[in-house]
Amino acid sequence: AESLFQNTPLAGPDKIFHLTAVYASDEFPQKINLGVGAYRDNDGKPWVLPVVKKAEDILINDPNRNHEYLPITGLPTFRAASAKLILGADSPAIKENRVSTCQTISGTGANHLGVLFLSRFYRNDVPVLISKPTWINHRDIVNNVGLEVREYAYYDPKTNGLDIDGFLKSLNDAPNGSIALLHACAHNPTGVDPSQEQWRKIADVIAAKGHYPFFDCAYQGFASGDLDRDAWAVRYFVERGFELLVCQSYSKNFGLYGQRTGCLTVVSKNADAAVKIESQIAKLQRAEVSNPPAYGARIVNLVLHDPKLYAEWNDNLRTMSSRIMDMRKQLYDKLIELGTPGTWNHIIDQIGMFSFTGLKPSQVQVLIQKYHIYLTDNGRISMAGLSTKNIDYFAKAVNDVVRNV
Ligand code: PLP
Repeated sequence: AESLFQNTPLAGPDKIFHLTAVYASDEFPQKINLGVGAYRDNDGKPWVLPVVKKAEDILINDPNRNHEYLPITGLPTFRAASAKLILGADSPAIKENRVSTCQTISGTGANHLGVLFLSRFYRNDVPVLISKPTWINHRDIVNNVGLEVREYAYYDPKTNGLDIDGFLKSLNDAPNGSIALLHACAHNPTGVDPSQEQWRKIADVIAAKGHYPFFDCAYQGFASGDLDRDAWAVRYFVERGFELLVCQSYSKNFGLYGQRTGCLTVVSKNADAAVKIESQIAKLQRAEVSNPPAYGARIVNLVLHDPKLYAEWNDNLRTMSSRIMDMRKQLYDKLIELGTPGTWNHIIDQIGMFSFTGLKPSQVQVLIQKYHIYLTDNGRISMAGLSTKNIDYFAKAVNDVVRNV
């Protein structure tokens, strides 16, 4: 019989999740997954942060533990701590009560709630400016709330670095008052971040054009290993007096991927606006998820409020970020040793979880088919998928495809 949905077009699979599924079904012993952006230890295993295990023990042994609903906007102490983490403990915006917060379904949920709120209460006649390229989900998240996207120049394939002139020009050419979606640190997928000097120029243009800065921060502490350093751009924009919002994800920096733990923080000019904003965000959240999941937020909340656990978390962050930096260095050294044609400095210059290798789609195909090394066709690799055990194999494979494909 015919279904009412017979003419529903079949949607293609999500590229990253599809890649992971194909990897999982591959029986080749030396296979490598460099697709998904999740941290792996040197044995290629997911890593539960030791500080997270401690927090979980505390939670499980709490005699008052229950599974009640959280408030609509989430755990209040978690929200306050999240704002403090990204904006800084002595942020003028926090002191002046000009901050609205809402716990979200991780970074994705924060991005969604952020654009949803702006589409209703800012304006819906301007595009959301997204970097070319950007996180694969940004476009769909924006389009889902009925806003248009427009790309700004970002990555320069000739230098494997930032095209700052193109970036500034795109910002300038966009309609006044556009929403500028910026990666706070560790740009995904390129691993290329503006320098502080370049951020100042970006802020100048955004101010001159009256754009609204929309920060997506999925890697605080994960990029440099230093939470404050990774928050620099956001804090700089707040210092300059912008109204803006920030999406935080605890997926990577706490390793809480599946717990969907995040926060949306909106900074406005005054406390009156902040109260109104928070009330409307709560209303949107109520209709969509009613209230957010509790478990991950409780873990983060414990760690952010306990000085000892907080210090241990910082250690855990450095463990992850330094292993990744070490892999960058080793990969670079091996490619140089092999005399692989081309320049490879970008591997060590880029930061965060990903590296944009500059490999062409045809070369990526050979890596997948011949070597069972899985990565997206834009040549992005998740550095966390490399280890001292597979890096030789990977470097030799790259050397082969660069020379022969
Ligand atoms: N934003 C960026 C730039 C990301 O790279 C990611 C994850 O890959 C996210 C947001 C959101 O991830 P999650 O919803 O798992 O927190």
